[in-house]
Amino acid sequence: MSTLESYVAGYWLRGTDEGVPVLDAVTGEEVTRVSSRGLDFAAMVAHAREVGGPAIQRLTFHERASLLKELALHLGRFKDELYTLSLRTGCTRRDSMVDVDGGIGTLFSYASKGKRELPDDTVFLDGPHEPLGKGGAFVGQHLYTSRPGVVVQINAFNFPVWGMLEKLAPAFLAGLPSIVKPGSQTAYLTEAVVRRIVASGILPEGSLQLVCGSAGTLLDELGAQDAVAFTGSAHTARILRGHPSVLDRGVRLGVEADSLNCSILGPDVRPGDPELDLFVKGVVTEMTVKAGQKCTAIRRVIVPEPIADAVVDAISARLDRITVGNPADETVRMGPLASLAQRDEVRKAIEALRTSAEIVYGDPSHVDVVGADAERGAFLSPVLLRARPGAAEPHDVEPFGPVATVLSYGSVDESVELAARGRGSLVASLATHDPQVARDVARGLAPWHGRLLILDRDDAGESTGHGSPLPMLVHGGPGRAGGGEELGGIRGVLHHMQRTALQGSPDMLTAITGRWTTGSRRLVDTVHPFRKSLAELRIGDTIETASRTVTLDDINHFAEFTGDTFYAHTDPEAAAANPFFGGIVAHGYLVVSLAAGLFVDPEPGPVLANFGVDHLRFLTPVKVDDTIRVSLTVKQMTPRSSADYGEVRWDATVTNQDGELVATYDVLTLVAKTAAEG
Ligand code: NAP
Repeated sequence: MSTLESYVAGYWLRGTDEGVPVLDAVTGEEVTRVSSRGLDFAAMVAHAREVGGPAIQRLTFHERASLLKELALHLGRFKDELYTLSLRTGCTRRDSMVDVDGGIGTLFSYASKGKRELPDDTVFLDGPHEPLGKGGAFVGQHLYTSRPGVVVQINAFNFPVWGMLEKLAPAFLAGLPSIVKPGSQTAYLTEAVVRRIVASGILPEGSLQLVCGSAGTLLDELGAQDAVAFTGSAHTARILRGHPSVLDRGVRLGVEADSLNCSILGPDVRPGDPELDLFVKGVVTEMTVKAGQKCTAIRRVIVPEPIADAVVDAISARLDRITVGNPADETVRMGPLASLAQRDEVRKAIEALRTSAEIVYGDPSHVDVVGADAERGAFLSPVLLRARPGAAEPHDVEPFGPVATVLSYGSVDESVELAARGRGSLVASLATHDPQVARDVARGLAPWHGRLLILDRDDAGESTGHGSPLPMLVHGGPGRAGGGEELGGIRGVLHHMQRTALQGSPDMLTAITGRWTTGSRRLVDTVHPFRKSLAELRIGDTIETASRTVTLDDINHFAEFTGDTFYAHTDPEAAAANPFFGGIVAHGYLVVSLAAGLFVDPEPGPVLANFGVDHLRFLTPVKVDDTIRVSLTVKQMTPRSSADYGEVRWDATVTNQDGELVATYDVLTLVAKTAAEG
């Protein structure tokens, strides 16, 4: 049996020793061996920094997003191959969907978010500029840039595909190359995906490397611009936290560790309510999908004391329907654990739990198995325990398998206290149809959790369930769960980038950021900017409009025409009594409409459409016979790669005859890339 290859600095290489056997979870046969002995970790890190990073960073966020989409489409073609391999890890088809489709879906999601929420640029501006001096000559702006480093992703065995792709996608968007080290037990599935990615040539060389086997001395090679994104047990996390690279060389460490997630049944729920059924279904799903080997699985089932027996009975009845066996058999609902060693670990954890709880369902030493040899595969029965009142467990030991413990509570406060005894978890769920219970429990749980699901009859039909991390929502939890944060849409990208507070003059900040900063020079020339295509426009191009006096007739006309006869525009006495106006004022929307009338160039041309305004503020009321004028300046230009036009964001300021700011906003337009296309 040969060892699995690693992808090292552009080459597929084997470790130099015979490696450690990796066994099929179902049959116990050897699938492959893993070894990283002799791999040149220094060369890998250098390759990532010198080849991969610069190649990714030459691309804009939009270009990176397009590659992620291409990659998702590409991997989608090999799903059957991955599903087949996944059977050997013990996964049923449903389990593989979570891993394989979940991973590919995460690529799609990041591709689309990258396109919609990041600029077509290589830097990201965080928030508006901050005025720092009285005269407007000194301002601040937060800016995110890509680090010239590498992220080493150390993953757990339970999600060999999703676990890699959910880290790769945000890192790649952030401009960082990845070195992936999968959990050894299922590394052959990760390797199959990496092989497909590398062979496709979609990602620039150096963006992705793979270590199959131990991480060896890889972390010793890292420095101040590098990061480690770890997913796994609290035990390994503790070792990594003490690594000299982390302690002494400023390597950033993100930890997604184990957690004792809970699900709480609200005190309002009675037998027969839909929420009870939803709750029970959720618990059984989380116990049995991937044989409970999910960091987000429900380990603690917290229910009101009066119906605790009924809940135990309902969960047990549902567990009776779970057929355990060979995942290739379509009648099987739960496959084996990933390895015999893993089963030993879970049995040990159950023993530890039994010091505080009785087993009320299942037998850790026996299970009826369909389509496989129960002795050779890592099969285990689902096991439900019931905790004794006031017991120490199940708040400390993580049984990483199909195991959960029921605890009962008396008051809402007690349910929150029990949840908090897990010392921080990835996710909690609450089944309730009572908004007050939802509010009290959710506010109590939130500081202890990275994600909260409130489940009731209204959202159940669309709910993605307790255990599914979603690319657009934060994944990670405080305390014992590691204190890390992944995903969460663009938040997960920005985690990998460096945020810098820039200080300087508006002109310097405009030059550095590529976005016009308030106070920068405005470039006024004889050609109206609406007559310029994207190719001709420059950041700072401005039109200073003529002025217009706003008359009482204008205001009356607008009020009648639109039906907005709010008293401040129509009733002189009532308007005079208003603390802000002291008399009739123009409608804010009239001011904005008149402003458009002042700056628009009416003939057909490169400007194709106005698709909105951002950040609109009315700052000074416009009174009868006030005179307004507008400055409109090109603030930001974003060509769309797949269209003949792009977006132009204009800074609009409306001032009155005294130079006071009346309104400020950004006008958003679509502008043709070249004059001919207009
Ligand atoms: P693990 O034993 O901690 O291993 C996790 C990863 O760390 C594996 O790739 C492992 O490699 C590697 N590793 C182990 N010792 C290392 C060291 N000294 N230096 C560098 N890397 C080292 O955890 P596991 O058994 O694979 O996974 C199960 C655990 O992960 C559970 O506790 C579960 O709750 C947790 N988990 C958490 C999340 C989350 O998102 N929070 C997700 C999934 C799983 P080898 O496989 O080669 O030993």
